[in-house]
Parts: sequence; C-alpha cells; structure tokens
Amino acid sequence: MPERLPVFINPENVASRGLQTSGVLSLEKMDRLIDRLVAPFGKVRVSLAFAKEGQHMTMHGNVVGNMFVECQRCMQALEFKVDHEFELGLIKSEAEIECLLPGQEPLLISHEDIRLADIIEDELELLLPMSVMHEPEECSVARDYGVNEEVIITDDSSNEQPPKKNPFSALADLKK
Ligand SMILES: [Zn+2]
Repeated sequence: MPERLPVFINPENVASRGLQTSGVLSLEKMDRLIDRLVAPFGKVRVSLAFAKEGQHMTMHGNVVGNMFVECQRCMQALEFKVDHEFELGLIKSEAEIECLLPGQEPLLISHEDIRLADIIEDELELLLPMSVMHEPEECSVARDYGVNEEVIITDDSSNEQPPKKNPFSALADLKK
C-alpha cells in the first residue's frame, strides 16, 4: 500500500498521539516554490515524527529528493538534490520561543489544522540558493567556452610557476 501523508493535521492532536507518517510530495503543486523551479520540478520523500513531552511539542522532519532549478549560465534545468533534516518546536505564543531547545525552529500553531505541504514548502524554499549553475563540465554553455581546456592548462604541475587564473596568459608563457 502506498504511504500517504495526511494533507491536514491538527498539531496538538498529532503531537499527543506521537504520530509518525511519511509519503511523497510532488513539488509542482507547491504554489510559492513553483515560481523558482523548472520542469520536471521534482519530488521529495517526507518523513515526519511528532512528539509531546510535558508541554513541549515537536515535529521532526526528514526530506529527501530533488528540485529542478534553472542554471543561471545555460538556462537549462539543473537537478538540485535535497537531503534535509529539521526540527520544529510547536509553540502557541511567541513568548514560548524561549522554551525551544537548541537547533529547533519555532512553528507558531493555533487550534486550527495546518497543511503539511506548507511546512515542507517553507523548508524547501530556505534550501534553494539564490543562484545556481551546473558544474562546468555539465553545463552546455561552459563547454562551448572551452572551460575544460582551461582546466587542463592550470592543472599542469610540471610548470614551476603557480597556476595562472587566466588561461590566455598561461598560453603566452608557454610560447616564450
Ligand atoms: Zn548550465
């Protein structure tokens, strides 16, 4: 039977019950995140564990999968791998922030149900870098500009001089 995350949970209820749940989320349904992604968008496997100790409620999460973003150099899709763990302290007022343990992020809750995908989307948004590029050898534009040749020249350890940053000045030295 395929696992399925509940769409909505009542935070206090699942924390008292110690709910553990997991499932796969497709990122194309995440309204805010989708603006920063490109097809095929990606998907993540989410595992969540809720707990309550005394008055202290926590949600431990693990997110593994991928997101597809646009390479800033060649404008093609780039697979951004996700392997992220987080711990949220579920608090009912801002004053409770002081009760959080080290490493816990606050999640302000009320009596209302919360949508799990929203929480995961927040976490994924924080992981996305402002600007990403393929590794030079994987990027179609970098290949066109001969970045690979530059690597060969600067890696030449038989040359006693320190590696030059500019491949053309290194070439000029070789011609002397
Ligand atoms: Zn690229």
